[in-house]
Amino acid sequence: MPIRQLSETMINQIAAGEVIERPASVVKELVENALDAGASRVEIVTAGGGLNLIRVTDDGSGIPEPELSLAIARHCTSKLAEDINDIRSLGFRGEALPSIGSVSRLSIRSRTASGDSAAEIGIEGGRVLPVRPAAANRGTTVEVRDLFFATPARLKFMKGERAESSATSDVVKRIAIAFPAVRFTLAGSDRSTLDLPATDDSPEGSLRRVAQVMGAEFPDNSIAIDAMREGVRLTGHVSIPSFTRANALQQYAYVNGRPVRDKLIAGAIRGAFADVLPRDRHAVTVLFLSLDPAIVDVNVHPAKADVRFRDPGLVRGLIVGAIRQALADAGIRSATTGAAGMMAAFRPGAASYDHGGPANGHRSYEAAYRASGSAGFDPARSPQRPLDMQFGGFERAGAKNGGFGEPGQAAFDTGPLASADARAGQSEAAETLLGAVLGAARAQVHENYIVAQTRDSLVIVDQHAAHERLVYEALKNALHSRPVPSQMLLLPEIIDLPEEDAERLAMHSETLARFGLGIERFGPGAVAVRETPSMLGETNVQQLVRDLADEIADNDTVETLKERLDKIAATMACHGSVRSGRLLKAEEMNALLRQMEATPGSGTCNHGRPTYIELKLADIERLFGRR
Ligand code: ADP
Ligand code: MG
Repeated sequence: MPIRQLSETMINQIAAGEVIERPASVVKELVENALDAGASRVEIVTAGGGLNLIRVTDDGSGIPEPELSLAIARHCTSKLAEDINDIRSLGFRGEALPSIGSVSRLSIRSRTASGDSAAEIGIEGGRVLPVRPAAANRGTTVEVRDLFFATPARLKFMKGERAESSATSDVVKRIAIAFPAVRFTLAGSDRSTLDLPATDDSPEGSLRRVAQVMGAEFPDNSIAIDAMREGVRLTGHVSIPSFTRANALQQYAYVNGRPVRDKLIAGAIRGAFADVLPRDRHAVTVLFLSLDPAIVDVNVHPAKADVRFRDPGLVRGLIVGAIRQALADAGIRSATTGAAGMMAAFRPGAASYDHGGPANGHRSYEAAYRASGSAGFDPARSPQRPLDMQFGGFERAGAKNGGFGEPGQAAFDTGPLASADARAGQSEAAETLLGAVLGAARAQVHENYIVAQTRDSLVIVDQHAAHERLVYEALKNALHSRPVPSQMLLLPEIIDLPEEDAERLAMHSETLARFGLGIERFGPGAVAVRETPSMLGETNVQQLVRDLADEIADNDTVETLKERLDKIAATMACHGSVRSGRLLKAEEMNALLRQMEATPGSGTCNHGRPTYIELKLADIERLFGRR
């Protein structure tokens, strides 16, 4: 066959293959257009999972009648003037509408503020219908019927109505988080409907929108992030370490208001939480990056969900640093929320306490807490509203039946308190300790729990968890403050790599040397490793170096090595710390408390469980009906 120019329709159908993967992609493009048009309301209606009908109505600027035919023509956009490096709108490629129109029956009805009537244009499988007058309010309605009727091969890949509807609802939620001042409604033929009333663009408004989308429990269990580095601003919220999910689906990221799925951001979040979360748990996060459009490339893929940062190391460093700092500052928060679950367990009349395993409060209040967190509590449905307790997490945790088997049963048995000299209470020194965050140690019970008293609360410390954290932080400090000790390999290990990888590793050789990895060029397409960090012991050098090369290629950092060393430090800490069961003297207990107060991150152990909980005296009094 001779070479010939493809028809306009075929070109658009090829583009549609990338831009319009499924109904949710159509919804995404149409909603983006509505937002670019400055809409304050966006209404979405679908039928048949979006395959029969998608209709998006907005109250935005509208399209002037003479431009209607351009809107559905390829490479026509009102959003990009001159500079591809200065993209401030969600759309810019001018290909969504013609692509959709080439694989479905599309109509656009629109009216501008100055226009005295509306007009409508249609396009069916690429065939343009003439513009005609119509009746409509200001704004635009885009209707897409029979999606993929013109490309049956794609139609076969659709997953069924329910899956498509839920993908659509995800898309709307994701984008709605970035536009809190806009009202979104989504109505389908099934249950995946949404109504997100407008809030506003303030930080509080943004958080209220987040709560509408993610559930009211998220704000109570998250901490605010607000950091800036070299002109890049990071804001948003991340969950406290005890509020986690089994997958990373609840991690929302935005770059200049555009929802993105980005490996670098996901990796940075993982790195930031590495110290406080078990491997198989994931934080819940909503993060907004704002930066000069010139230093981020959004023109990576037609679906516009990928980005490339000019300085990936800067972005990663900003995210990791800001989250770690916020977690360190919030050590006390996580403990308080943990206490909420525990207080709920005390509540007389509640049922089904988790008796499994050694009598250890941790597991059960954490379980109660998790269960309550993931269920999305509705106070009205609570079988028995707990006492009117003061702080947020309280009611929720209480409502989830996370109490004891027997009404009125106490959590701690009333065995004798620890040795007499642990009762450090009376002395004057102890009196001043009452003012400290973790107070004065009063006793050690069950050979692992330090009971301390502050002016207005009772503090219970898990001594093993706390000590483990302290040892870990100390080890890490030692690790990062001077070069990591390394061991010479008997024979240097030669590793063959693509030339770019070898070059990248060589460029980072100084940093790697600081972490104990001696690496140098070994001719074209190879590196030689002469030293490895002694802490790693017998390690798979090949694998380590390849992982590092991948990471440098992706993120321009060598975090992998640092994280591995941190992980080893964590294991060493676990083995080197006070086992539960050791009796501590009063001075030892107080020393531990003081050290905890001085150590960032000491509110949770290396696995993300709280190291201490605080019960406010006021709440204890409520439990006893004294208030
Ligand atoms: P892009 O969004 O990349 O410009 P589209 O094909 O999605 O490309 O849209 C083409 C043009 O049609 C847009 O640039 C815009 O001018 C106009 N348009 C599309 N949808 C709307 C809408 N809902 N309100 C106002 N104008 C719209
Ligand atoms: Mg668009």
